[in-house]
Amino acid sequence: MRDKKIVIAIDGYSSTGKSSFAGKIARKLSYIYVDTGAMYRAVTLYCIENGFIGNCGLNVDKIIENLEKIDIKFVFNSNIKKNETFLNGENVESKIRNVEISNHVSEISTIPEVRTQMVALQREMGKNKGIVMDGRDIGTVVFPDAEIKIFMTAKPEIRAIRRYNELLQNGENVTLQEIEKNIRERDYIDTHRDTSPLKKADDAIVLDNSDISIDEQMQWFEKIFQSVIKKQ
Ligand code: C5P
Repeated sequence: MRDKKIVIAIDGYSSTGKSSFAGKIARKLSYIYVDTGAMYRAVTLYCIENGFIGNCGLNVDKIIENLEKIDIKFVFNSNIKKNETFLNGENVESKIRNVEISNHVSEISTIPEVRTQMVALQREMGKNKGIVMDGRDIGTVVFPDAEIKIFMTAKPEIRAIRRYNELLQNGENVTLQEIEKNIRERDYIDTHRDTSPLKKADDAIVLDNSDISIDEQMQWFEKIFQSVIKKQ
């Protein structure tokens, strides 16, 4: 029964632990895991490195003109048992997680042409199913027919603390206030943009993990998975 491959779409607000949860599910089921936020972060890094984001804002025309030069791939690192993000052949995993990228990524993600390119890549990656993909529009736009859709949320202050601790561990010099502000701003832009805004798909199941551990989340998921896979 578990051999039957399905698509698992996980959407939700920033820093709700989507990646940890999705990655754990993928390892458990031996599915492919795709962190679509990393793709938008890689595009943002490309734009910063090429001077398309400046003091006067985004140079949208330049970004669109250069989109075809952006090649994003995930490569599995067997030492850490995780996918790493590659931008035009360079491992950018650590570069894309910093505050500067977080401060610009949601704006870059509002550009419809950027989204069209990322969504096409994401659909290609999931065409054979057996995939767990997390992001903001996976259950609504990328895979509207996904067999399991989960929408993750948690209290903003709890999300800020989680993200703050994560950044501190990575050696970033940040304040909790700065992180909470960034999370609230990204939530606002992500839920209010015209193209593919973050919203719960009608058939998604809500997971509020403010007060529950990752093990409890996995137990919750296992029940859902069992009931869905029986019907396949
Ligand atoms: O998931 P993560 O927080 O790394 O995503 C970074 C940003 O990328 C989000 O705040 C959102 O603006 C954008 N994003 C998106 N659509 C996705 C995934 C991420 O717009 N599917």
